[in-house]
Amino acid sequence: MPGTALQTAALDLERIRADFPILQRHVNGRPLIYLDNAATTQKPRQVIDALVDFYTNTNANVHRGVHTLSVESTDLYEASRERVADFVGARSPEELIFVRNTTEAINLVAVSWGRANLKPGDEILASTLEHHSNLVPWQRVAQDTGARIRLIQLRADGTVDLDDYRQLLSPRTRVVAIAHASNVLGTISNLPEISELAHQVGAVVMADGAQSVPNVPTDVNALGVDFLAFSGHKMLAPTGIGGLWGRRELLEEMPPFLGGGGMIREVFEDRATWAPLPEKFDAGTPNFADAIALGVAVDYLEDLGMPNVRAHEVDVAGYALERLAAVPDVSVYGPRDPWIRTGVVSFNLEGVHPHDAGTVLDEAGIAVRAGHHCCQPLHRVLDVAATLRASFYIYNSRDEVDALVDALNTARRLYQRSR
Ligand code: PMP
Repeated sequence: MPGTALQTAALDLERIRADFPILQRHVNGRPLIYLDNAATTQKPRQVIDALVDFYTNTNANVHRGVHTLSVESTDLYEASRERVADFVGARSPEELIFVRNTTEAINLVAVSWGRANLKPGDEILASTLEHHSNLVPWQRVAQDTGARIRLIQLRADGTVDLDDYRQLLSPRTRVVAIAHASNVLGTISNLPEISELAHQVGAVVMADGAQSVPNVPTDVNALGVDFLAFSGHKMLAPTGIGGLWGRRELLEEMPPFLGGGGMIREVFEDRATWAPLPEKFDAGTPNFADAIALGVAVDYLEDLGMPNVRAHEVDVAGYALERLAAVPDVSVYGPRDPWIRTGVVSFNLEGVHPHDAGTVLDEAGIAVRAGHHCCQPLHRVLDVAATLRASFYIYNSRDEVDALVDALNTARRLYQRSR
């Protein structure tokens, strides 16, 4: 299949690309081909303009003042919470806590829920493909509480092995920490089934949505999870803002994560009582400017339509899987079917260190990631120290996949000659 069409059925690529100023950049004399979207996405003009407009015309602290700017700022902040909550299918905006990123969201749950609920002998199940951010916070709370972590194995195609999961589940299981989509293999976990099984033994499900919320239409109630974490910077929004959705009953009974201004109802000399949701988890001055811009990013994605975002990703990643499979010496990790994975494609070029291959690609203006992608347990299972990762988003085209394959062939020739 030739990769010449700039327009795919689902999205108007030309119009989208025009919204992203950075795509006009050249790197090493070549037009930038940005394929590191799983690390962070680029930002459309609409999001950049929203930030400039906010700081130019509105900026004031939220929930604090009676003056006009503070009221406007608070209204924008809370309206954004409503849009973001709606984007993930929350029943009410009070279930959506603004945090810095996925990592902070998971730490919030591990510390607040974990310390209050875990005891010696309890078990935390996590899958082998977890990003360190859905593993290390649980390791820390396990050390503090005497609970222990057990890892669910993967099947040969890189999906979570539900048979192994069923065997590990027991009345001791209190938490199932699981990525909705892997940032290395792209595989999408069957969260409805995983959640149902977890609930049968009374466990809660902490889903890491860092790689799914930007790419896959998300409805927390259909997924059946209890918590969902995600990062704004991976879905067109600024850095430093993300979301934690939690089931209301759980959030209500959880103690606050951080103490300080904004999260209290009353403060006495030696104690305090807590504000209702969501303020209970909003200690200190929140990152309101970026939260407001996250709402604009969500509007941008909603305008495109998340089913179209997903269809485009399947098209481009599917094309990449097909073309990479035909490059000699390239091994691709994870399943071949683009419908059971996101737009993340990890691979290795035999005999070439991923950092060296990444440098050759950079010379061609192509940005990919090389390393363990914060998934060391998974890389141990894959039996490689590092991989190259190309990750596609709404502005990437099949043409760019062709350029990636050409540059990989150049790397192959370069390194084969020097061997
Ligand atoms: N989980 C997954 C699956 C990720 O891909 C990432 C980011 N690479 C994270 C968690 C952590 O996200 P953040 O750095 O924004 O907290």
